[in-house]
Amino acid sequence: MLKLAIQKSGRLHDDSMRLLKECGINISNGVNKLKTEASNFPLQVFFLRDDDIPQYVEDSVADIGVVGENVVYEKNKSVDIVETLGFGRCRLSIAVVRGEQYTGVQSLHGRKIATSYPFLTRRFLSENKVQADIHEISGSVEIAPGIGLADAICDLVSSGSTLLTNGLKEVETILHSEAVLIRNKNFNDAQVRLLNKLLFRIHAVKKARNNKYILLNAPNDKLDEIIGLLPGMKSPTVLPLADKGWSSVHSVLNEDEFWEKIEQLKTAGAQGILVVPIEKMIV
Ligand code: ATP
Ligand code: ZN
Repeated sequence: MLKLAIQKSGRLHDDSMRLLKECGINISNGVNKLKTEASNFPLQVFFLRDDDIPQYVEDSVADIGVVGENVVYEKNKSVDIVETLGFGRCRLSIAVVRGEQYTGVQSLHGRKIATSYPFLTRRFLSENKVQADIHEISGSVEIAPGIGLADAICDLVSSGSTLLTNGLKEVETILHSEAVLIRNKNFNDAQVRLLNKLLFRIHAVKKARNNKYILLNAPNDKLDEIIGLLPGMKSPTVLPLADKGWSSVHSVLNEDEFWEKIEQLKTAGAQGILVVPIEKMIV
């Protein structure tokens, strides 16, 4: 049995639950439950505050956990990151009052910076040889300059709209972060086997998310050119259409190159292009 810690409620909760579901793991999430057990995988799930997860994993209270890299690095516990999960993306940034002149890190010298990330903020400042006064607060960091508590903040940003509404501007990015799977450092063979079983499923889910299945019709005299544009898992599938002189081509396209390829395929003579999501992808 593996013990997994995920956030009880907050920004990572829903995506963590969705990942388990997509991995085919059934868990009932009773409201206000502290823990639950999967019905079809040897997994126990603990619902915790995200800040506590690295400590619990270090102490083997949980074997693995889902948490933001920002928390992993801030807490600086002895755990291993085993997989990035592709959600909860954000950055840890320093922001100052919008009207203020900012010419570089040195502008922070002697200032007061409010943050919930004292460890990472201090490390960034010392790497840049800046001496500033760090004021640790646990929430609503963005209002600190407005109420005269600090001159600047170091906080998580995703769209930047919170900074904007509070009259702040982002000036330095300390860290880019996303949710990751962490594990305790002392696993026995049985735990390694179970983790690998889970990782096999996570890889299939991640790959499927990044790829689309594509079907199109191609005139036979353009087939070579069109096939040349398509990678496919091995090579594209080509099937004759009832209409003589035409074929149906099936392949898999990566999200990153998706629109570019579609344009090229159309220019090359492809018609009736269908794009379908993939549920799982095992390569
Ligand atoms: P908890 O009650 O579990 O302590 P919290 O209030 O500390 O929750 P959330 O605000 O739910 O935490 O954020 C959890 C994680 O989501 C963050 O640590 C970060 O990794 C990620 N995240 C992604 N985008 C943002 C954002 N714009 N602001 C804050 N966190 C974000
Ligand atoms: Zn938290």
